Amino acid sequence: MARVEASSLEEPLEWDTPLFLMARAQFEQALPYADVSPMVAERLSFPERALIMSVPLRRDDGRWQIFPGYRVQHSTVLGPTKGGVRYDPEVSLGECAALASWMTWKCALLRLPYGGAKGGVRCDAHALSPHELERLTRRFTSELFAAIGPQEDIPAPDMATNEQTMAWMMDTYSTQKGYAVPEVVTGKPISIGGSVFRREATGAGVVMCAEHSCERLGMPLAEQRCVVQGFGNVGGVAATELHAHGATVLAVSDISGGVYSPDGLDIPELHAYVAENGSLAGYDRCTRITNEELLELPCDVLVVAAREDQITGANAGRLSTRLVVEGANGPTTLEADAILAERGIPVVPDILANAGGVTVSYFEWVQDLGRLFWDRDEIRIKLADKMSDAFGRVWSVAEEKSITFRQAAMVAAIREVAGALESRGIYP
Ligand code: NAD
Repeated sequence: MARVEASSLEEPLEWDTPLFLMARAQFEQALPYADVSPMVAERLSFPERALIMSVPLRRDDGRWQIFPGYRVQHSTVLGPTKGGVRYDPEVSLGECAALASWMTWKCALLRLPYGGAKGGVRCDAHALSPHELERLTRRFTSELFAAIGPQEDIPAPDMATNEQTMAWMMDTYSTQKGYAVPEVVTGKPISIGGSVFRREATGAGVVMCAEHSCERLGMPLAEQRCVVQGFGNVGGVAATELHAHGATVLAVSDISGGVYSPDGLDIPELHAYVAENGSLAGYDRCTRITNEELLELPCDVLVVAAREDQITGANAGRLSTRLVVEGANGPTTLEADAILAERGIPVVPDILANAGGVTVSYFEWVQDLGRLFWDRDEIRIKLADKMSDAFGRVWSVAEEKSITFRQAAMVAAIREVAGALESRGIYP
């Protein structure tokens, strides 16, 4: 195999932001254990392509505003690219590049025939009305038209996007095609080809991983005290599932702060409160705490399901948990990873723990392509099988090589993509 010479890619590139450099460092930390050629390592270090857009929006008051939009496709080696769309003030090319590369590893680890992508619009979704969100989504989809498609790139929901966003994307794409194309997005409403159990899949997968980890660590989940950061699609469902498993959920939080009860929270009541009030703000039936305090509460299982960069060098030394499960993407920095490893606190990494979402998205795409739909039990069983298989492989690699779960998950994922890339070769 030809040696890869130092290339211009060694210069700082547009996506070389702290989050992308962190994703690349995680990849590089796993490489020595993955046994791949330099050609494969170099090729997989960078996204294959990216699209940068300016998305115009006519506000309800008649003003025009332009929002930056992005879509990064990291790898097309295993199949179409797949990944979420987020609406957030921090969306950037580098953030999308990091998240797209994690999607590649996640899909490969779960043995789904996809590469990774990620995109979004830099905006504060909560400051936009439903009509504004619809116009923004439709124009964003229109700008993306050439890049997405059922065999090209299949978006899904992420932060501040949901089933309705996917319905607008599906309708915009289908209208431009001239016929219904449900398989262009996943995470859609069931009425237009969405899958049962997709909305719950990520949070349910997080808890499946927590349960497997607890079992192997000899600490039955039903007896554990859990803390969950983030009370959205992932964290909200994870809290419900933990509660349903009989675990005690001591605290949960959202962007407005956290709520804590040493005897355990009433999770259904909290969901009802958030459904009525939009967030946890103002909930006063238990102790209010900050997000910083929540992360440091003494507990057995800490689920971080809000966003990236939450467990850092500054607070990792003060965490008082026996296990961290990453519902969010990239919530633990490299420095924090090293501190937690040193302290003997295992971290179930994002590419494994939150892979339930993309796994049921894959089931949704398969159902749409086949125009044949499965029921909830079938999907839950298929998801449990996939998660358990991936968890087992990660555990084995970690034991065999005496490395962290993150490194082991990366090794298992890199091997899948590398094998395919070695077979295909690099054109021409
Ligand atoms: P969401 O918008 O539904 O929920 C995010 C939650 O986190 C909200 O409760 C929000 O208030 C809270 N939050 C935001 N910033 C916070 C902060 N600084 N401190 C505390 N809470 C904060 O988003 P989601 O879909 O639940 O995604 C959460 C994370 O999970 C993201 O990292 C996302 O990329 C990842 N993820 C989501 C899915 C999915 O299927 N939705 C799949 C895999 C990974």
